[in-house]
Amino acid sequence: MLAARVHALKARILAACEVAGREPADVELLPVSKRQPLDLIREAASLGFQRFGENYVQEGAAKAEAEPGLSFVLLGPLQRNKARQALRAFRELQTVDRPDLAARLGRIAEEEDLVRPIWIQLDLWDEATKAGGCSEPDLPALLATLERSPRLPLRGFMAIPPPGHAEAFRQLQTLREAWQQRLGAPLLLSMGMTSDLEAAIQAGSDQIRIGTAFFGEREIPA
Ligand SMILES: *Cc1c(COP(=O)(O)O)cnc(C)c1O
Repeated sequence: MLAARVHALKARILAACEVAGREPADVELLPVSKRQPLDLIREAASLGFQRFGENYVQEGAAKAEAEPGLSFVLLGPLQRNKARQALRAFRELQTVDRPDLAARLGRIAEEEDLVRPIWIQLDLWDEATKAGGCSEPDLPALLATLERSPRLPLRGFMAIPPPGHAEAFRQLQTLREAWQQRLGAPLLLSMGMTSDLEAAIQAGSDQIRIGTAFFGEREIPA
């Protein structure tokens, strides 16, 4: 079941890369295993996947403890009081969106002697969404804070654009290019999920985060 679904997904990604004129090896497929049981994650590992996205600190930390040979990436909102637990459990954090959180993560990473690549979650469309995300005007301050935290190397930008917002991926691509120039360092883009991976690949996404098309419907209630 899982193998067949993943096979179909890979074909979909290949087709999208072909249309976009991109190399499939340049687009990372990150399976999102939130609300999926451990045995499905183990099955995915047997297919060669080693990194998994998780949305909830508690759930992801439990899975990371059960499967220390795999890497888990935090994709969900991070509260200040869970910063230490998140740094210990996840190899990367994708939802850093404000300077106070980044500064706290930097201090704790120092105390815990950990290095954790960071992605900034952007929200260019609605600064009031409860999903979080850094607005464009707030981005320079957040980048400056991360620059002072050598244990939190910046990987790039992550976003969950509102559905049907056709221009969103292009906007993100433009912003990535602008900041890459200013920082003089490569920045990756994590964008695209089950319903919009083709548009994301077309717009230059470096990492698509796929839950449903990889694992099927989520099994564990939220
Ligand atoms: C759940 C989730 C995904 C995967 O969603 P699907 O639509 O099931 O592919 C990707 N990114 C984030 C941040 C998510 O929360």
